[in-house]
Amino acid sequence: MRNTYDVIVIGLGIMGASALWRVASKCTRVLGIDASSPTHSYGSSHGNSRIFRRAYWEGEKYLPLLNQSDLLWKELEELMQQKLLFRTGGIFVGHQSSHVVAGSIETARKGGIEHAVWSESETRSHFPAFNVSDGSQAVFEPGAYAISACEARLGMLNEAVHQGAIIEFGNSVTGLQTSGLGMRLSTRSGQTYSAKAVIVTAGPWIGTHLLPELERYIEPRQIPVFWFKPKTGFGNLFSSDQFPIFLYEHQDGALLYGVPSILSNEPGVKIGFHNRQQTPAAPNWKNIPVHKRYLDEISQVVGDLFPKLQRSPIQAKNCFYTLSPDESFLIGESQALKSSFFASACSGHGFKFAPAIGDALACMAVGLKPYVSLAAFSADRFYNVSPEFRECPPGSTTQSLRREKPQSRVDGAHHKE
Ligand SMILES: Cc1cc2nc3c(=O)[nH]c(=O)nc-3n(C[C@H](O)[C@H](O)[C@H](O)COP(=O)(O)OP(=O)(O)OC[C@H]3O[C@@H](n4cnc5c(N)ncnc54)[C@H](O)[C@@H]3O)c2cc1C
Repeated sequence: MRNTYDVIVIGLGIMGASALWRVASKCTRVLGIDASSPTHSYGSSHGNSRIFRRAYWEGEKYLPLLNQSDLLWKELEELMQQKLLFRTGGIFVGHQSSHVVAGSIETARKGGIEHAVWSESETRSHFPAFNVSDGSQAVFEPGAYAISACEARLGMLNEAVHQGAIIEFGNSVTGLQTSGLGMRLSTRSGQTYSAKAVIVTAGPWIGTHLLPELERYIEPRQIPVFWFKPKTGFGNLFSSDQFPIFLYEHQDGALLYGVPSILSNEPGVKIGFHNRQQTPAAPNWKNIPVHKRYLDEISQVVGDLFPKLQRSPIQAKNCFYTLSPDESFLIGESQALKSSFFASACSGHGFKFAPAIGDALACMAVGLKPYVSLAAFSADRFYNVSPEFRECPPGSTTQSLRREKPQSRVDGAHHKE
């Protein structure tokens, strides 16, 4: 294998897979390196499904990235000639003044996004699986969908390979330094590589060996996700053609998300808290069982909201969020290492943005202006303030929701070495 490249992408979760796909069409000598195997379950990008929605309660600053990502997801699905996007529609439920309802309406209006606002009785009649409480509202976004996550990531890697990129799994980058006009990398296996530019998309590991300047702006947290089976006779209420992706803001500020089962190997509806049940964790954390009190807590909320789901989850797993202090993204060029471009700290909601973020990183790495401005996601916003993360003592379940004010085949067996 050669050791000189135009661009090297370090870390092939969804951000790196996308960056590799986009950069492989822009230059000829491209390498992607990942510390783990093609379908590993560390980091944040594994699993069957992720939500895509554009009526983004979190704020309109995300709209340009969302709009470009929407186009690129559809392009990827066409390229792959395989169903990748499950057009379930999405509902965002809460009380009228809740962050989720008010914020989704505001972004939908500003972005000209098709939507409807429903009373509780309209919500129940459109989606009888939901037992929404009196006085609640729902924003329905017909264009929202669920992404087949693992297939999408593998599809991006395959497209990159088809365009000539080389991928190396099971080798981690242990050192990164400037060299002449470009960068030099060393790896755990003892190789060194050089490149005109590097893209660092190493998730929660980004600060450890690679870009220490980002370490203080990143907090990895473990968070559980659960699967619930329908009660006997009610499976049709929860099938992906009857049941939308959803967000539900409880009166106490807890935010629940959910996705219908879109692949046959998924044991039920996937549901989790977005802003609760988080525990700070080291990036090299290994999977541990989900705490019983978290099972009890989610069973209570799910039992009330979806009486036709079995009350106890059939499966529960711990996953990983990499948070930034304001729970938005960190994207840009390293201050310390010129020609190094990064995206991380996607704060538990980055997957849907990956095509546009990958494209922007690819543009920057080859000296082009990104199609979408990334100014709102620059790490500069933290440089002169001391970063503070939302409080999360181990075992805490009391965080409240915050709204920001004004992002060959690789299938586990065959890959180019
Ligand atoms: C349970 C759960 C549900 C989610 N749901 C949604 C959703 O519905 N919609 C949404 O938009 N987002 C969602 N997210 C968030 C989204 O999945 C993440 O933002 C996204 O996957 C982050 O991807 P990444 O590529 O930045 O990082 P990662 O997935 O962590 O990838 C980093 C990669 O870098 C590699 N690596 C690390 N160090 C090195 C090194 N030194 N050398 C080489 N390789 C290295 C790792 O092996 C890994 O493959 C969810 C996250 C979780 C955990």
